[in-house]
Amino acid sequence: MKNLFGFTKEMLEEYFIDMGEKKYKATQVFEWLYRHNEYDISKFSNIKKEILIKMQNDFTTEFINIEKVLEGSDVKKFLFRLLDGEKIEAVLMEHNYGLSVCVSSQVGCNMGCKFCESGRLKKVRNLEAYEIAQQILLIQKYINKRIDSVVVMGIGEPFDNYDNIIKFIKIINDSYGLAIGARHITVSTCGLVPKIDEFSDLNLQVNLALSLHAATDEVRNKIMPVNKVYNVDTVIAAIKRYIAKTNRRVTIEYVMLNMVNDSTEDAQELAKLLKGMNVYVNLIPYNETKNIEFSKSNKDRINKFYDSLMKNGINVTVRREFGGNIKAACGQLRSESD
Ligand code: SAH
Repeated sequence: MKNLFGFTKEMLEEYFIDMGEKKYKATQVFEWLYRHNEYDISKFSNIKKEILIKMQNDFTTEFINIEKVLEGSDVKKFLFRLLDGEKIEAVLMEHNYGLSVCVSSQVGCNMGCKFCESGRLKKVRNLEAYEIAQQILLIQKYINKRIDSVVVMGIGEPFDNYDNIIKFIKIINDSYGLAIGARHITVSTCGLVPKIDEFSDLNLQVNLALSLHAATDEVRNKIMPVNKVYNVDTVIAAIKRYIAKTNRRVTIEYVMLNMVNDSTEDAQELAKLLKGMNVYVNLIPYNETKNIEFSKSNKDRINKFYDSLMKNGINVTVRREFGGNIKAACGQLRSESD
């Protein structure tokens, strides 16, 4: 049995067509699930009984579970228990422009970034599309408000779980699904080049963010093992192809690690690398975790780095810090729950 929440509308259309039925039934199913919050298939009353009986044999509508919620002033952190007992987390953030949720894409992660808590747990498995979508559904239900935007920046490397991420995006973007606009969805990758190219071809209008974190191979090799496979020039070339094909601006994420990648020389290298590209740099204050020896850059170093980029004509913002006080930062809740 497959979980119904992992089906895009197109997948359901195929299901009904294969059965000799009209494809608009897929829309009706979406309306039951996402408009009426009706999860009992036998109650989909505008669909024939015999079809419902078949559907009940083919699908479940089971939910993952909220195991724990930590509440801060402008942030809530959710720990979920999956149906096989694995645990993942998601974060709800209140911005002035609305509510955003950061979802996980895998149980654990194999990318091994040295500064990242999530990577301390090796990948156990990919999340299914329904497990990603239900993080949002359950949070919406918990707060009884609509989510405005979604970032795939929780535990896991989304492009290492590409097919399920694409299904997930189609489900939440569908106007009969959660109806979250493509421009309000951001996928963040550490730089898996073949998938960046595949993603370019989809023409989804979704935002792409690259976790670059260093402008030279010398520095990036030290903190991100993925750089030994796709180095700085290779990944930047892929981003240029993406921009050329989609005409969309890309976010470059840059986590500020004290004395590792945060000098003005580093800023100048970064400006040189990104010159003329349709990108903006998001400087991320590092969330320190007790298991990892990296420390955060102080305000002064962040400001100097920022100024240097600005002077060189690079668009840049400093990301607001959320949830440090409730251990909401980057994989910390999950890793302390064992
Ligand atoms: N694997 C994807 C998405 C998950 S990580 C990626 O690499 O982009 C989301 C972002 O948080 C990445 O930019 C990651 O490098 C960053 N990050 C990880 N640990 C962090 C920490 N302790 N403090 C601040 N940012 C962190």
